[in-house]
Amino acid sequence: MLKDKTGVILGVANKRSISWHIAKAADRAGARLVLTYQNERLLRGITELAGQLEREPILVPCDVTDEGQMDALFEIVSAESGHLDFLVHGLAFSKREELVGPFYDTTLENWQIAMQISSYSLSALTRRAAPLMEGRSGSILSLSYIGGERVIPHYNVMGVCKAALESSVRYLAADLGPHGHRVNAISAGPIKTLAAAGVKGFSQMLDVVAERSALKRNLDGGEVGDAALFFLSDLSRAVTGEVLFVDCGYHAMGL
Ligand code: NAD
Repeated sequence: MLKDKTGVILGVANKRSISWHIAKAADRAGARLVLTYQNERLLRGITELAGQLEREPILVPCDVTDEGQMDALFEIVSAESGHLDFLVHGLAFSKREELVGPFYDTTLENWQIAMQISSYSLSALTRRAAPLMEGRSGSILSLSYIGGERVIPHYNVMGVCKAALESSVRYLAADLGPHGHRVNAISAGPIKTLAAAGVKGFSQMLDVVAERSALKRNLDGGEVGDAALFFLSDLSRAVTGEVLFVDCGYHAMGL
């Protein structure tokens, strides 16, 4: 499904990362990948993971708070491949201590950094990726959570960031539509990852989904990877500005 396509995937921290599940699915589907890592601390782990893929990916550092690193990422993609077919934005951040108490305790400092990393970075990366997608029907995919639409205890500023992210998906879809590129998001159910562990009461979220979702079970990261293939491939060529729930049907239930 992704043969001869080149993609950048941001957000692999370890084997539990949703971006890693997407990377494995994209690799199986034939894509050539550029994987980014946030900092040197994560390089060893991502290098080990990269060895498990069928095609050796290019590894590039990219902290999205650093404009220079974002520029450098796309310069490397341009030099190595000359073009880009898809980009996966699988990253978010808030201070852990602000995902514990009430939302009104959010500090301005954390609001700004959480918004910059979790929401603004999608626009900043899209601006740089789009020129490399010229003439190739590019696909940009982000990851959201139902806490952007409804109140989830302790999700706090991350919920507001996800609301901004989902709105950004629609504005970016309108920007890139005339160029033939698509921008979408998957709103995934809870999965135990490094980022998720920072939300107080996360294991209760898993229990609630297992009990109340339509499918009466939790989600596996590989299932997000499979859904991502739809968005990254030409199968979704007429779908843009969309946020698709991949959550075992939890969002559909009233009680
Ligand atoms: P994760 O901890 O594996 O991934 C988060 C990634 O964000 C890490 O790779 C980290 O390095 C990266 N990151 C943080 N700050 C960064 C920065 N300044 N620059 C570059 N990268 C930075 O956790 P995950 O659950 O796989 O999260 C991936 C995405 O999925 C996030 O957007 C998250 O909100 C979303 N999501 C997660 C769940 C869940 O339950 N795990 C559910 C729905 C949506």
